[in-house]
Amino acid sequence: MKLNKNYSKLEENYLFTEIALRTKKFIDANPQKPLIKLGIGDVTLPLPALVADAIINAFEELKHAETFRGYGPELGYGFAKNAVAQYYKSYGVELQLDEITVGDGIGSDIANITDLFEKGANTVLVPDPVYPLYKATSLMDNQKIEYIACTAENDFLPSPPNFPSDMIYLCSPNNPTGASFNFEQLKRWVDYANSCGAVILYDNAYERFIEESDKPHSIFQIEGAKTCAIEFGSLSKTAGFTCVRAGYTVVPFELKSDGVPLNRMWQQRQTTKYNGAPYPQQRGVVAALSKEGLAAADKNIAEYKKNSTLITNVLKEKNIFYSGGTNSPYIWFKCPNNMGSWEFFDFLLNEVYVVGTPGVGFGANGENYFRLTTFNTYENTKEAMERIRGIL
Ligand code: PLP
Repeated sequence: MKLNKNYSKLEENYLFTEIALRTKKFIDANPQKPLIKLGIGDVTLPLPALVADAIINAFEELKHAETFRGYGPELGYGFAKNAVAQYYKSYGVELQLDEITVGDGIGSDIANITDLFEKGANTVLVPDPVYPLYKATSLMDNQKIEYIACTAENDFLPSPPNFPSDMIYLCSPNNPTGASFNFEQLKRWVDYANSCGAVILYDNAYERFIEESDKPHSIFQIEGAKTCAIEFGSLSKTAGFTCVRAGYTVVPFELKSDGVPLNRMWQQRQTTKYNGAPYPQQRGVVAALSKEGLAAADKNIAEYKKNSTLITNVLKEKNIFYSGGTNSPYIWFKCPNNMGSWEFFDFLLNEVYVVGTPGVGFGANGENYFRLTTFNTYENTKEAMERIRGIL
C-alpha cells in the first residue's frame, strides 16, 4: 500500500491536544484550584425547547410504521433546503433549492469540498492566523499554500494579494480574531477571485453574531459572488447544534471552471460519498431557522455577548489592544508585556487558573496574541475576568 505522505506535513500536536495536556498536568498537580475555561469554542447554553421538541417529534415519527422513514435524499430534504433558502431571502439573497445542500455540520463539508479540486495543482490562499482546518486540508492535498497575513496593521482583515491564486479561504466573522469584513472589503475579494478565476471558500459559521449593519451576512450579498464563491453555514454556533450537527453549503449554479459547474461536481461528490444528514436533525434545522427559533437563538447569543462585555471591559481598562467581541464570540488580544502566546497561557493557568487559547496555535502571526471565548457562563466569565484584572 502507498500512503498519503502529505499527512506527515501535519503538525504533530494539534493545538487543543496540547492545551488539554497542559491543563490536565495542572489539575493533577493542583486538584483543589478552581479552574475556569475561557478557551472553549463550543456552545454551553441548551437548545431552545422548540428546536429540541422538533427533533424529538421527528424521532417519534420513526417509531410508527405510517411515519417511519429510511434513507433520505443525500443532498438534504426539500423542507430543510427550503428553510435555508428562506433564511437567505431574509438577507435579500435568492437561491434555488438545488444550490443548497444540507449536511452534518460544515467541518466535514469544508474538508470534503476539496475533492473537487485537483490535488497538488492549486495555489491556495490561507489567512494567518485562522481556523486550522483550511491549512490542514490543503496540506493533505499537497496544494501550494500562500499565507495571507492578518495583523493589527490590516485590522486582521487582509486585502487580496497582487498575484493570482486558485482557491481562497475566508472566514468572517473570523475565528480566532473576531474581525469581520465589511461590504467593500469583501467586494474586493470577490472582484479579485473573478479576475483570476479563483474560488472563495467562505466560512460563515459565525454569521449570526454580526451586529453591525455594514457587515454582510452572506458573501452572496456581494455583487459577482455567485460566479466565484461557495458558502458554508453552520447551525453549531447559530443555534447550539455542536452536538446535534447540522449545516448547509451553497454552491451557486453560475460557479464554473472551464465551463464545468462546481454545483454538479459537488452533487456528484455528495451522492457518491454521503448518505445524507439524519432526518431528525433536518427537522431541527427547520425549527432553528423559523421566526421563533431564530428569536430563541438570538436570545442565547445575547447571553454570550454579555460575556463579551465582561472580557472587553477589562482589556479596555488595562489598555490592552484587542479585536473581536462585537460581531463574534471571540476576543483576540495582544499578550501583555510582549509575552509569547504559550508563555501567557502558562501564566494565566498558573497564576489565576484560567485556560485560554494561545494565538500562535492558529498560525505564526498569532504569536504574542491570545484568544478568549464568550461561551462559558456569565458567572464563570465574571470570576475569570476579575482574577485576570488582578494580575494584568
Ligand atoms: N468553521 C469555523 C470557523 C469554526 O470555528 C467551526 C467550529 O468551531 C467550524 C467551521 C465547524 O463547524 P461545524 O460544527 O458546523 O462542523
